[in-house]
Amino acid sequence: MDNILPAYDDPLFSILLIIVLVLMVAISSVILGNIKEEKKRKSLQRFLNRFNTKECLLNIEEMPFETSLIKPLTLLSHAFKTQGEYQKAINLNLYLIDNISNFVDKEHILEELGITYLKAGFLKRSESIFLEILHKHARNKEALYHLGIVYELLIEHDKALETIWPLQLMGEKTDRLEAHLKLSKLLGDKNLSNEAKTNALILLLENKNYAYRRIMKALFSLNLTEAWNHIDPKRIHSILDILWFLPSLNLNFDIISSNETLRAIYHAKGILQNKEMESKSNIFAIDTIIASQKGGSNNVDLSFSYGCEKCKQHFPIGFTRCPKCYAIDTIQVKEAVAKKQSQTGYSLL
Ligand SMILES: [Zn+2]
Repeated sequence: MDNILPAYDDPLFSILLIIVLVLMVAISSVILGNIKEEKKRKSLQRFLNRFNTKECLLNIEEMPFETSLIKPLTLLSHAFKTQGEYQKAINLNLYLIDNISNFVDKEHILEELGITYLKAGFLKRSESIFLEILHKHARNKEALYHLGIVYELLIEHDKALETIWPLQLMGEKTDRLEAHLKLSKLLGDKNLSNEAKTNALILLLENKNYAYRRIMKALFSLNLTEAWNHIDPKRIHSILDILWFLPSLNLNFDIISSNETLRAIYHAKGILQNKEMESKSNIFAIDTIIASQKGGSNNVDLSFSYGCEKCKQHFPIGFTRCPKCYAIDTIQVKEAVAKKQSQTGYSLL
């Protein structure tokens, strides 16, 4: 034995000792890493088991898992989500998450699951998924953006605003999102008097990050005088539906008569009768109605729909966040000439 091992005062002995120590450290860190990974996997498993549903619409639970299934099943779940078949999309996502052991490989599927829960209206489940993703990967921007949407829908504006700071740290431009959330918080503040709210809204009109349409809509329901005083002639089209559906008693004829576009709108509406004052709005539908009135037809009206500038989807009712793609400040008011219905006198406010 003495001939095999070098003597303790031999330099070779020190080198051998160092090699043995390095090997021991390496082996133990591999073992500890595996234990940690396994622990993480089990905690995620326990977390997801809470969402497993008894009714499996796709009978996939017994299907043997293969790595080659990941891509087609991910695409299939995405297709189900797009078609509104949320339960099927959720089942597929849960199956994939259940069978993929590495967090990095299933992070995107967890995001999909969170978004599907959000779309299906399971806001608390969606919140849990995004929090779980952020717990493991704090720099996941998609998770942060979607968590903000979940909190906004849960009317937890302060929590939604907390998602802004980490996004800013990662270099994201969040000015408009921050303004959107702060405006929602202001409008929903029950402790603020109408006067204080009105004053705050008027100040926000100066800030380009705040949505003009949302502020004007709120002003028309809080303080009519201030609302009329703050109409921006260049942005009348963006509030055309609000103006069109205002009850006659809420109109300010001094301001209307001083602006050609406003005059044209209320001529078309049939409220202003002064035919001597020529009015043109440069809004095609309004000018068409005025022209048809001149031709003797009083049976035409305006109908409205709302488009999203980002995803190009159309909706029958207005929105502050696109119901399809969740974009903010992308609403486009689309007016069209329609046949007059017997009852049109309602307000959007
Ligand atoms: Zn959209």
